[in-house]
Amino acid sequence: VFITLEGNDGAGKTTVCMGLKKELEARGYSVIYTREPGGSKIAEEIRNILLSDENENMDPRTEALLFAASRRQHLVDIVLPALQEKKIVLCDRFVDSSLAYQGYAREIGIPEIWDINQFAIHDCMPQKTIFLKVSMETGQKRMNQRGEKNRLDNEQSDFHQKVRQGYETLIQMYPDRICVIDAEPEPEVVLQSVLHEVLKVIQS
Ligand code: C5P
Ligand code: MG
Repeated sequence: VFITLEGNDGAGKTTVCMGLKKELEARGYSVIYTREPGGSKIAEEIRNILLSDENENMDPRTEALLFAASRRQHLVDIVLPALQEKKIVLCDRFVDSSLAYQGYAREIGIPEIWDINQFAIHDCMPQKTIFLKVSMETGQKRMNQRGEKNRLDNEQSDFHQKVRQGYETLIQMYPDRICVIDAEPEPEVVLQSVLHEVLKVIQS
């Protein structure tokens, strides 16, 4: 079963993934957690290019292609083998990130980004995508608390607002696949809501 988590920076995707993995393993499931961009050797090297300060002025289309390239490699190295072994794959970001960030917020266009990603993933789409919904303020606060350097630190808040609008568009486009979870409450509460949705998918 292939499940992806999406949301703005600071939504709590990574925290939820970690908790989810523990909860599912406690129920006897075999689970891998992985993330994008990166997750395997070549894919991580591409991630480093994408996240490097020196590359701040990268052309948006180059950026989109690198995200898709990283995704392809990660899929082949990590995701497909794990699915083959009947594992549950929890992936921190996937195509929807590219559609929202590069397609919508960077204004390349959702259909254009969809095309290059279709080439990259070859119809390997997640059965379910969990969208963690937080206010811009909460996302910003969680990012600040973490204190980790972020490639979008220099972006204006209207960029993050556009990312959010991009996600809203995707939620309208794929209402069956994308499940929206209120990620405003404390982590344990959010985790339980996500777990509930994920168990429905696994047990169906
Ligand atoms: O989720 P994570 O923190 O690993 O993402 C790394 C950085 O890459 C974040 O700043 C995120 O906003 C950015 N990103 C992006 N376009 C994507 C995926 C992530 O700009 N398609
Ligand atoms: Mg994260």
